[in-house]
Amino acid sequence: MSSDQTHVIVGASLAGAKAAETLREEGFDGRVVLMGAEEERPYERPPLSKDYLLGEAERDKVYVHDEGFYAEHAIELRLGRKAVRLDTAARALELDDGDRLSYDRLLLATGAEPRRLSVPGADLDGIFYLRSVRDSDALRERLDGGGAVVVVGAGWIGAEVAASARQRGLDVTVVEPASVPLERVLGAELGAFYRDVHSDHGVQMLMTTGVEAFEGHGKVERVLTSDGRRLECDFAVIGVGVEPRTELAASAGLTLDNGILVDEQLRASAPGVFAAGDVANAQHPFYGERVRVEHWANALNQGPAAARSMLGQSAPYDRLPYFFSDQYDIGMEYTGLAREWDRVVIRGDLAAREFIAFWLHDGRVIAGMNVNVWDVTDPIKRLIGERVAVDERRLADPGVALEELASARERTGSAPGA
Ligand SMILES: Cc1cc2nc3c(=O)[nH]c(=O)nc-3n(C[C@H](O)[C@H](O)[C@H](O)COP(=O)(O)OP(=O)(O)OC[C@H]3O[C@@H](n4cnc5c(N)ncnc54)[C@H](O)[C@@H]3O)c2cc1C
Repeated sequence: MSSDQTHVIVGASLAGAKAAETLREEGFDGRVVLMGAEEERPYERPPLSKDYLLGEAERDKVYVHDEGFYAEHAIELRLGRKAVRLDTAARALELDDGDRLSYDRLLLATGAEPRRLSVPGADLDGIFYLRSVRDSDALRERLDGGGAVVVVGAGWIGAEVAASARQRGLDVTVVEPASVPLERVLGAELGAFYRDVHSDHGVQMLMTTGVEAFEGHGKVERVLTSDGRRLECDFAVIGVGVEPRTELAASAGLTLDNGILVDEQLRASAPGVFAAGDVANAQHPFYGERVRVEHWANALNQGPAAARSMLGQSAPYDRLPYFFSDQYDIGMEYTGLAREWDRVVIRGDLAAREFIAFWLHDGRVIAGMNVNVWDVTDPIKRLIGERVAVDERRLADPGVALEELASARERTGSAPGA
């Protein structure tokens, strides 16, 4: 393989690090530069709201690779440096220290960043966001101090932080404008499941209300809600979603729409430029439309797929979305994508907190979430991927093996990669 080429990856996190690894695995022996704005070598973010935040996982556990990996694989790891401008005609990047970096192929794995809440008092001390390991360290230290916390937003990050804070014995109040947690993704019934899980653990769940302002002298002391409450607190955590980090792509005039638009092979709108992970809004062959997700597994798998595409291999990225969440003793995995659905079918026992929920559209399974039930992701993927028309009664019956349903005859379309 042409050893005089330089492939640059911007974003030294999961997608970027896995892409660099794959370039080497696939035999590319040219120059590989993996650069990122954070000081830490690439790490995984899921533990930051779970066991790492709880102080149950060591720092060493979160890294994507051992310290020596990058040097051993001749991957130039440049940390603490931001790429500020991209010139796709000259195939060059400008860094924040004025350095220029030329590339033959460029991967943008710039991820996402927390959406900021702009209400009065939002800049007071004691208001936390959670994206980086530094954020998690700061929050963990604050949890050590105990007291009362208001968590703003009952999405995945808010819900996991609420669970961790509660497990550390803090008084936790969650404020969320939707009627149940995670409503947009899970809908009313399964959102209510998570609301009850938190309530049962002693979290005060304030739904259908937003934050009007934070108040305090220098640091946050209370949160004012849109339904007129004044919630006294020692600190607050905001988890109101993330935005894809597209400034660099915008500086080059790349086509953007809810992230960087890429095709099935993760190619952006300029020659030699690719995108993967949270920032990529990729054409998905199975769905026939663009899909951008903020999932660990997507970064894990799309980074390598982009690397193969950079090397001229032309397999489309067609994995089904998959993510997981852990809250208290409730572990779950979610496979698929349910933007619209007609019905939700439950197999198992919601009250016992061991079940699989299936989202159905036109009589076919489009997503499945297994809660405290394990080793079912493959048959769920097959049910979705093979577009099997299901009998709802059999789907709900734990006595009927999922594999049996997945091997039913009536199918349309072709299955995506596992
Ligand atoms: C607290 C937390 C918990 C999570 N838990 C789960 C979970 O349980 N399950 C799940 O499926 N997903 C989870 N996720 C989501 C998952 O971590 C993300 O989907 C994943 O990190 C995306 O990886 P990425 O490499 O695309 O981007 P990111 O991890 O966002 O990394 C992008 C990197 O690019 C760098 N960068 C950006 N712009 C530039 C620039 N111009 N120059 C240089 N560097 C730049 C950034 O500094 C950053 O290091 C969680 C996320 C968080 C924050």
